[in-house]
Order: sequence, then C-alpha cells, then structure tokens
Amino acid sequence: MAGRKLPGISVPHRKHTAEKIPRRLPVPPMVCIPVSMHIGAPARPVVQVGDTVKVGQLIAEADGAMSSPVYSGVSGKVKKIDDLLMSAGQRVPAVVIETDGEQAGSGAFTAPCVSDFATFIGAVRQSGVVGLGGAGFPTAVKLDVADLSKLETIIVNGAECEPYITSDTRTMIDDAESVRGGVMLLREYMKAKDIVIAVEKNKPRCIKIFSEMFRDDGHVRVAALPAVYPQGAEKVLIYNTTGRLVPEGGLPIDIGVIVINCTTLAAIEKYIRTGTPLYEKCVTVDGSAVASPGNVIVPIGTPLRDVFAFCGGFSERPGKVLYGGPMMGIAVPDLEQTVLKNTNAVLALSAREAEPPEETACIRCGRCMARCPLRLSPAEIESAYRRNRPDELEALRVGLCMECGCCAYVCPANRHLVQTNKLSKALLRSYRAVKPAVKEESA
Ligand code: SF4
Ligand code: SF4
Repeated sequence: MAGRKLPGISVPHRKHTAEKIPRRLPVPPMVCIPVSMHIGAPARPVVQVGDTVKVGQLIAEADGAMSSPVYSGVSGKVKKIDDLLMSAGQRVPAVVIETDGEQAGSGAFTAPCVSDFATFIGAVRQSGVVGLGGAGFPTAVKLDVADLSKLETIIVNGAECEPYITSDTRTMIDDAESVRGGVMLLREYMKAKDIVIAVEKNKPRCIKIFSEMFRDDGHVRVAALPAVYPQGAEKVLIYNTTGRLVPEGGLPIDIGVIVINCTTLAAIEKYIRTGTPLYEKCVTVDGSAVASPGNVIVPIGTPLRDVFAFCGGFSERPGKVLYGGPMMGIAVPDLEQTVLKNTNAVLALSAREAEPPEETACIRCGRCMARCPLRLSPAEIESAYRRNRPDELEALRVGLCMECGCCAYVCPANRHLVQTNKLSKALLRSYRAVKPAVKEESA
C-alpha cells in the first residue's frame, strides 16, 4: 500500500444528483447511433435503410480485434445511415432509427455460454461494452491478457471524482449485485488474486454496501480513498491503491494491474447473466442551467435535446453544454449530438459559469507543477510550445499528460494550460512522425 498519495486538488463535488434514483426516458421519436463510440476501428453497419429493428438487435458488427459491436436500444425503422459530425470533429457513419414506441424485442435475449477464459473474453466482446467511465476503450481488448499469471490486482473503479457526475454512484447503489457478480466473473475467469473496489470517501453509502458485501471474502477489499480530483484517473488510482507506478509508455498490466470501471463491470455481468447487450446508458444530467437535474436511463443514440427536455429543459440559456464533467468534459456544438456508449453525464452550464476567466502573464509560481499528479511542468511545457520546441516537449514528457486540468484549475494567471498541452502533444506527434526522415537526411 502506498504511504504517500499522488497529489490532487480539492474541487467542489456538486454531487446534487447522488440520491436521485435514475428515471427512464420515454422512447424518443428518433435515435442516431454512431458506429464508432470506442477507440479503434469503427463497427460495420449490418442494417439497411428501410429495415425494421428490435431492441437489442445488432446494427453494426465489430470490424477487427480493436472494435466493438453496436446494438439498437429501440424498435423502429432505419430511416438513413448518414455521416454524423462528432464533437471531437470527426465524421462517422450513424444509423438513424425512427422509433415505433413498441420496444419490440426488449428482454428477449439469450445468455451466452461462458465456461472458460476464451469464452469469457468472447462474451465481453459480443456485449458491446467499452470503457464506460469515459475512455471508450474496448473492454474485451483490455481484459484479454496474454499471460494471466502476471495479473495480480484488478481495481474496480468507483472513484467518480469529476464534479457533478453520479451515474457510477447510482450503479454502485442500485446495481451492486451486478458489480458483485462481475467481481465473481473476474475471479473465476481472470484468476485475479486481489480485487480492490476503490471508492472515494464522499460516497459512504457505496463504501458501506461493498464493505458488508465482501466482509468475509479474503480476495476482495474496499479501498476508501480521499475525495480529491483526479482520484479516478487510472495511473493515480493504481498508485494510491497499490503503491505501484505505471512506467512511462507502459500499461497497467506491465505492473500486474487492470483497472475496470464499476459500471463497465456491471454491464458485462448483465450481458453474461441475461444476454442483454449494451444499448442504453444511465446519464447524469446537471449543471447550473438545467431546470431539474437528475439521473436518466436513455437509449444510446438519443439526442441531447430530448434528454435535457426530460429534465425540465433549461432554467436559463446555457453558455456551454458538455459531455462529461467540467474538468475533462468535451463541449458539444449543438443539442443534436447524441448519448454515446461512454457518455456518463451531460452538463449545461450557465453563461456565467462557462465564461473562461481572463488570462494574464505567468508569474512562475510553480503551483501547476506542484499539483500535477504526474509531476509534469505545465509552465515549462507552455514555454516550449510557444517557442515551437518539440525536442523540449519530448524531454518534458508532455505525452504523459492525461489532460486532467489540475494545473489550469490552480493557476492564478488562468493560463489555458490544458489546451496548450493538447496542442503540444499534437506538435510532438507530428515531430515524431517526421523525425526518422530528418535523421536520415542529416546522416
Ligand atoms: S493536465 Fe496534464 S500537466 Fe496538467 S495537471 Fe493534468 S496531467 Fe499534469
Ligand atoms: S500556475 Fe500558472 S502562473 Fe503559476 S507557474 Fe504555472 S502557469 Fe505560471
């Protein structure tokens, strides 16, 4: 166990919706389901315009090992398969379904046959589950460990450290049995010797549920962690629960660890127990411009305008709408954007809250470095970027930056450090791409 914890910051928790039991959104008139909601190759559509689809029907199959299948969460008719402009700027095909309100097919699923590690991984792949905590990494790829004897610890991530978001908290309260079932699957098929359920101390109800649930289980422990941001970030969580550091450029499995989000684990368990693939999400809807915040269960592909309307609409015109929390969330260009597999929250912030404070000159106070969980030097990175020095950016290890925003949050000069880090990483990537050619020319 680590003696010292990695640094983090105290942010207002704003978990207003933690006690709000998720409500189910009435079937929206239309859903638009992108075939790429994960890291890796987009899935390939297997339906055509005019087809009738049912709830849980496969509409796009995984295209290769690093991909994930996509299922419909509604019944209705495929109206078109069109390019959708995603919030990150890329265009991906999306299946647009006009719903019929029948929800035909719902519940008529067959559980997969799982009997060993290979069939377990196959089932995880078929479930359509990807990292639901935000990353969108195909879970089957993460769990498909080449040598299981090297796996020592699996951390079930229930830290949920971003302000506002409580959808994982609701999983741990409302679906604790699925988390327990998921832990048992990891024990049985991954042969995990040590399973840690990591929860921040601002969720005492969750800590109590799992402490009692696993009281007599010598292989499962609950880690109650300080409620600081970014406690739920993978590298931070690993260090703060096991004392082990993921090496630069390495993966958690290199030090015998896998981290899996609690809602991801519950979704896998549900698929293996019932055959229900991932086609709907519990989403926290909150922010200073939302009239009636809450947690809402919605079919994947539901437009955000329907989700906000279900929560009473806006109390004032929002200045910014985000996928995710205020620290790492991504701004959406319009409310036609849809709920994705990895959408755990949508926030609408008032214009006042969304307004970025005025940037002033760096005063070399060092606070950004002191609060960076990865001990990076954001002020120096900014300087190197402005001088167009990718070689310096490489030495400053900007590639490690997880864009958590701690540095920008504590900066008294309101420097836009996260944006600069993103740009710096892009500059470094293009530098690395041409670097061998540069070397050859000078040889
Ligand atoms: S955004 Fe990057 S540099 Fe800033 S605190 Fe987080 S990891 Fe460190
Ligand atoms: S916290 Fe802001 S003002 Fe202080 S050194 Fe870092 S960038 Fe400069």
